[in-house]
Amino acid sequence: MISRIDLHTHTVYSDGSLTPKELLDYAKSVHLTTISITDHDTIDAIPEAKKYGKEIGVEVIPGLEISTDIEDKEVHLLGYFIDINDEELKKYLRFFREERFFRAKRMIKKLNDLNIDISIDDVLKIAKNSAIGRPHIAAALLEKGYINNFYEAFNKYIGDNGPAYERKIHVSAQSAVKLIADAGGLCFIAHPGHLKESILTNLINAGIDGIEVIHPSHNDFQVKFYRGIVNQYCLLESGGSDFHGSIKGDERNLGKYYISKTKFENMKKMLSKSERSFDD
Ligand code: AMP
Ligand code: ZN
Ligand code: FE
Ligand code: FE
Repeated sequence: MISRIDLHTHTVYSDGSLTPKELLDYAKSVHLTTISITDHDTIDAIPEAKKYGKEIGVEVIPGLEISTDIEDKEVHLLGYFIDINDEELKKYLRFFREERFFRAKRMIKKLNDLNIDISIDDVLKIAKNSAIGRPHIAAALLEKGYINNFYEAFNKYIGDNGPAYERKIHVSAQSAVKLIADAGGLCFIAHPGHLKESILTNLINAGIDGIEVIHPSHNDFQVKFYRGIVNQYCLLESGGSDFHGSIKGDERNLGKYYISKTKFENMKKMLSKSERSFDD
């Protein structure tokens, strides 16, 4: 069987629209053999995903996506093969989650000041138990009829330059790299397509293990460019769909963005070289 490995997906535990089971069923139907669930700031989907993945024959790699701050820009890092029972990691994730809740409240206050009648309960109804993000606020605005589509929420209110935007607390890239390494994982720069070269250099110096080369936002030129950097600096190459479900209109991306077995085996080799292990 040909391996098709998608190392970037989201579930309802962050801002995706599918449960881990739904995601895995979908992954199997589009012939993916391995996926990593990389929810924003949470690893809550992993236990049930691993269990169900075993049942249906799709391998699940524990992962997460962390927002970091570098040169005052938001940069996403992906952690793979992390030990989800690592105490320090769990402590950080609890902290991020609380911070996301307080930030959502601040954004709601700003929306209220713009005469938009929306409450934290409206957003919690959508976010349920997941780490609250802007997509949940967008969905609440849509439900309440303040906007006509998901993107309007960002264009009018909560986009990075919008009047109701609030920054998240971000860790420094260095601390995120250390957090992931200490939890036994490998750390990758997510979708670097929009990053300045100085940021890329900074991250390489901070000790990242690899770069997400394959991503829906990258064109052929960017794929070649980042693959060149991977080779030049002896890094690892990763890739995936960044699939969120229907929420962002990316429902057709699953099964289209993946890496080969060789690239995946290189990651496992790196884990064993650095004496980090991965218990299946
Ligand atoms: P947060 O982590 O709460 O800041 O939310 C970030 C998420 O919001 C991203 O992963 C996207 O899903 C979504 N997002 C951010 N900016 C936009 C935008 N301009 N248009 C659509 N979705 C966006
Ligand atoms: Zn997301
Ligand atoms: Fe991201
Ligand atoms: Fe993502």
